[in-house]
Amino acid sequence: MAEKKSNLYEESLRPLKNAADILNLESDIVEALSSPERALIVSLPVKMDNGRIKVFEGYRVRHNTARGPAKGGIRYHPKVCLDEVKSLAFWMSIKNAVVGIPYGGGKGGITCNPKEMSLGELERLTRGYAAAIARCVGPDQDIPAPDVGTNAQIMGWFLDEYLKISGKYDAGVITSKPLSLGGSRGRNTATGRGVFFATLEAARVFGIPLKGARIAIQGYGNVARPIPVYLHDLGCKIVAVSDSVGGAYNPEGMNPMKLADFKAKTRSVKGFPGSTEMDTADPLTADCDILIPAALENQITEKNADDVKAKLLVEGANGPTTSKADKILYEKGAIVVPDVLANAGGVTVSYFEWVQNRMGYYWSDEEVDEKLKRVMTDAFKDVYQTAKQTQIDTSFAKQPLKVDMRTAAYVTAVRKIVEAMQALGRI
Ligand code: GLU
Repeated sequence: MAEKKSNLYEESLRPLKNAADILNLESDIVEALSSPERALIVSLPVKMDNGRIKVFEGYRVRHNTARGPAKGGIRYHPKVCLDEVKSLAFWMSIKNAVVGIPYGGGKGGITCNPKEMSLGELERLTRGYAAAIARCVGPDQDIPAPDVGTNAQIMGWFLDEYLKISGKYDAGVITSKPLSLGGSRGRNTATGRGVFFATLEAARVFGIPLKGARIAIQGYGNVARPIPVYLHDLGCKIVAVSDSVGGAYNPEGMNPMKLADFKAKTRSVKGFPGSTEMDTADPLTADCDILIPAALENQITEKNADDVKAKLLVEGANGPTTSKADKILYEKGAIVVPDVLANAGGVTVSYFEWVQNRMGYYWSDEEVDEKLKRVMTDAFKDVYQTAKQTQIDTSFAKQPLKVDMRTAAYVTAVRKIVEAMQALGRI
């Protein structure tokens, strides 16, 4: 049944339409790729610490499973809604195909504010959610993981509830678990590490010297936190960083270890000694060479894209740049390494975790890091080759690329998904 698509979800499908034009895909195939296979909405009554019952709404969306079981995180955030989860699930299908791991795309979420909930409330909410969606998840069906607002502890509670219901110990139902429950080494820092490998490749192929390069980062959560350390070690200068409270700017560069200590003590980077205070969005338009948006979606829009100074943007967040902003950036010659490539390190190490759970045999930090580097570097090369070779008229743009890296990533991913759907006889 073709349900009317909302603007939010419709907007996230735009790069699919661009890729479909290049691939000459029929409109019915685009329609099939645009429609999530399943969307589950659950009501979760939770006993709060004050003794009252509060009902939360939770979601789990399976976008496409032609290439393998659905895979994608669970988000806890006040702005979570079905449309957002649908977009995030769609991006997971594309992301998993870009890096060539054998999964389709899925995503889940609960509309809640985890920052205002006690540990006990979060545990009861998570157990309720796991029980409500247990029949739809499993190591061969749909494999959740963390996303914004969730962490390894939440994965542990989810696993416990699932194990009670399924009656057998199958740790591969969820990834990014604590090490003691079969988590993988390197998973905690994997998304940031992947962003780093993508930045290295981009700097190499586009000729941006990393020594002395000025870096601005929006976000200081699980994805962003390790990135300043990796880049600083190569001689980059971290000139701007922000979190949800505010930001810090210092054109001379900031010490990432001291920044991490300061954030741990004060809960924000705002007020870091020697820096000027900034707003959360200010790193996006700060004077820098490389910009890493690693917070939430729709941060770079047609309103601020013209003010972006970076030559290279590497998307740590999912969906930080709108289509209109993409066009502005492309025309002025900035290179955007898209989310579906740049932040795929997290789900890649989730895949490694699932493989290790199935084998019951575990890899060292070095093995994980080396395998992650190979996956990220190969995927980057694939997308870059497509961006250089695709034939369209680009005479209007100040660009070394025939199409932007996002369109190229979607072209490589959509090709793989369509091939799998055709081989299954679904289209
Ligand atoms: N939430 C992460 C993402 O958006 C990781 C998903 C996973 O590991 O399954 O890619």
